[in-house]
Amino acid sequence: MNIALVAAEVAPLAKTGGLADVVAALGKELLNLGHNPIIILPKHRVVDTHQYQFENTGLSLIVPMGTWTEFAGLLKGKLPGTDVPVYLIEHDIYFDRNGIYGEENEYPDNDRRFIFFSRAALEVCKAIKYSPDIIHAHDFHAAFSLAFLKSQYRDEELFRNTAAIYTIHNLAYQGKFNPDRAMQFSGFGSDNFYVGSWFEQFGVVNAMKTGIMFADKITTVSPTYAQEIRFDYYSEGLRQELNTRGADLIGVLNGADYDIWNPETDEHIHTNYSESTLYKKNENKIALYEEFGLTHDSKKPLVAIVSRLTEQKGIELIMSEIEHYIGSGEIRFVIIGSGEKKYEHYFEALRYRHPHDTIVYIGYNNNLSHRVFAAADFMLLPSRYEPCGLTQMYAMRYATIPLVRLTGGLADTVDEYLESSGNGEGFRFWSYSGREFSYCINKALAVYNKAPHWDNIRQNAIRKRFTSTASAEEYLNVYRWAREKIR
Ligand code: ADP
Repeated sequence: MNIALVAAEVAPLAKTGGLADVVAALGKELLNLGHNPIIILPKHRVVDTHQYQFENTGLSLIVPMGTWTEFAGLLKGKLPGTDVPVYLIEHDIYFDRNGIYGEENEYPDNDRRFIFFSRAALEVCKAIKYSPDIIHAHDFHAAFSLAFLKSQYRDEELFRNTAAIYTIHNLAYQGKFNPDRAMQFSGFGSDNFYVGSWFEQFGVVNAMKTGIMFADKITTVSPTYAQEIRFDYYSEGLRQELNTRGADLIGVLNGADYDIWNPETDEHIHTNYSESTLYKKNENKIALYEEFGLTHDSKKPLVAIVSRLTEQKGIELIMSEIEHYIGSGEIRFVIIGSGEKKYEHYFEALRYRHPHDTIVYIGYNNNLSHRVFAAADFMLLPSRYEPCGLTQMYAMRYATIPLVRLTGGLADTVDEYLESSGNGEGFRFWSYSGREFSYCINKALAVYNKAPHWDNIRQNAIRKRFTSTASAEEYLNVYRWAREKIR
């Protein structure tokens, strides 16, 4: 199949989050599975076209924007380490900027930038004579490409058999645009903007809704999240739309990159280990304590958090429960995170109160995160919502036992450890309450102190895999269903 992946980010060229990793992994896997994918991306300033040897195609794109047209250049290269073609849309006024979406704040012309990008993506296919079986648009930045596909481009020979897929990576960022501007830039005109139209949500243009409504099939990044977002609590105001499209809404779990996240080969960690040498994991704990000037303590479990510090991640629950366990001498605690100031201040104060039992690193530090995955015994993930979550997948690969709230991808990836069967690799709780969270921690600590079970659960965890090949195969099924639908 010819599959055009349209996204604002792809790793390692331009990345702010998981979206970039997922698009890169999907492109790579689709090619390995014998398909013919291309990736279409804006040429952001951050994309190092020299390092990655991009070349100018010499083609220029003519992109209609409402009542006028704009011009763009087109560069071609490959996704680093693969043969997947990547096309960069060059329009310096829009994309030659420090940020991808903004700097301090979102860029005020994001409506215009991403409507332009969405339309230019279809013009790329025309310019390179690529007839896509699938246009797969990711997140609101690419959503309008599906609206264009299903209207202005529908009768073009090149797109006659093209199905539209839309993937929601983060429902919280919807692309809410001023209707006067967005309807003009897109060329759909104010006549197509009215209460209940496919562009309108609560009086503004909502690009996320546009993607949801125009797609043949919609996916999101885990099966449980695909169910949850049909309810008010998780739907971020789009409950009605997601239910209207419910029959076409499918969860496809993200995969993890085990070339990078592998305790056997990880160069960031002190001592490598595998399932047969799990006893060596402890060396990493000793090294981490040394690095942060803590005395060694072989008895207490080390409980970790590696996370953005936002309300989504359940930081309130951690604040309400964790100090009790540190204070009573039951655990040691390490956190790497950054985000909202109130949370950062809380953890700094926590370290001040318990300097001998806590490691607090405020900031983003990828190398250190590897060392923490290797050193810790438990990883806390009490998220309020979690579309997929990668942290729990990485933790398990390092035999670090996840404690998760039963939501989204956490529910799909972590099974409760049962002493009776010996199955499972983590501990789970459902209600978003301190009491349930603390009950869950108690269950985990009990198993930590029972040698055969502790060995067992760690073996289960280190063996668990979520591959991007499995994920790409599921996307292929979705592509097939979408093509059947438009036939
Ligand atoms: P989200 O995308 O919602 O932040 P995920 O679990 O999908 O959550 O992915 C987060 C990734 O970012 C994980 O790889 C996690 O280890 C990493 N991460 C989060 N915060 C930090 C930090 N402060 N330092 C290093 N890595 C971090």
